[in-house]
Amino acid sequence: HVYLDNAATTPMHPDVVAAMTEQMNADFGNASSTHYYGRQAHSALDKARQTVADALHTDAANVVFTGGATESNNTAIIRTAYARRDQGMHIITSAIEHLSVLNPLRRLESEGFRVTYLPVDENGEISVSDFDAALDDETTLVTLMWGNNEVGSRMPIDKVGARLRNHQAWFHVDATQAFGLEDINPAALGINMLSASAHKLNGPKGVGLLYRDDQVHIQPFLLGGEQETKRRAGTENIPGIVGFAAAVQRLDKHAKAELEDRYVGFTRQITSALTDAGVEFHVNGNLEHERLPHVLNLWLPGVSTYALQTNLDLAGFAVSGGSACTAGSLEPSHVLTAMFGEDSPRIAESIRISYGTVTTAEDIDAFAAALIKAVQRLRARAAAK
Ligand code: PMP
Repeated sequence: HVYLDNAATTPMHPDVVAAMTEQMNADFGNASSTHYYGRQAHSALDKARQTVADALHTDAANVVFTGGATESNNTAIIRTAYARRDQGMHIITSAIEHLSVLNPLRRLESEGFRVTYLPVDENGEISVSDFDAALDDETTLVTLMWGNNEVGSRMPIDKVGARLRNHQAWFHVDATQAFGLEDINPAALGINMLSASAHKLNGPKGVGLLYRDDQVHIQPFLLGGEQETKRRAGTENIPGIVGFAAAVQRLDKHAKAELEDRYVGFTRQITSALTDAGVEFHVNGNLEHERLPHVLNLWLPGVSTYALQTNLDLAGFAVSGGSACTAGSLEPSHVLTAMFGEDSPRIAESIRISYGTVTTAEDIDAFAAALIKAVQRLRARAAAK
């Protein structure tokens, strides 16, 4: 079997498993306890926080560990909206954010907040002039993703960050698909809050982070004990946090640059193979633009997502029809809908392929051959009807 759904989640790296196993066996203490066991756990927690903070070019005090990017996004959005109610009730986002951003915003709308959902073009990109037109004196929060999990398009984070430097609105970025893969310096980009999740970079599930700079004062989402310097109650998931740090440590600058080159090569391998075989396809997104290199979304006209995904699965290749979060439901992708309109055939005829650190050129060769075969078979069957 070949796993090509790394935007959904990634396999844990053996170094991560080893670090977590050691933590669970030797240092099971509660980091809040003052005895030896507690101090051991606390020291592991401090060390992990420093590792993750270094990756974000920031101080350890700016990193809060959470139960994943969903919690980080919910906390950043809902708690900022409430904390800044007196300054305004307007929030700006895009139409193609993850549901862990869109659903908190819908909740806020039902409570009287005003939300602008910036539209995207066929590349899955917003326009900065639309952003400028939306920003007003009541805007207290702008929340945009670093890059999209379904099509890989990027948001103009640097431009938006620069514009917000002289505006009251705080800038939150959901960097879940990019953290670990790209070098991110929130302070340099004018980002006040940033979310990430460990399981997207070969770490464990159920652990993430919320970066927040000195300007941000919000109430915790979870109320209880004084963990995470009163910013997130609940006994810390030390094994998960240690695993997160181990995953981050593996991906230094050199590794990131090498991965990007490799992923760009994989995409070229797949698109060239399809072209050479005379198989009609279109990329949902724009490969010429700056984008997340590990995500490739293809429209195969005349071939249903469901049939193609099932065929590939039987042949031993795991890809996704959209995002994992919506694949289980029959809901059409809100990302492809925002890009192409709800009547576009692309919505029911596209697949997402996403690479990870263990993906090899041989995997991609075998996948391209299987994809060509499956598409040709399904098209022939449709033609025979
Ligand atoms: N944001 C984005 C862009 C994502 O891709 C995901 C994971 N699919 C999340 C947030 C949520 O992460 P988690 O499920 O780990 O909370």
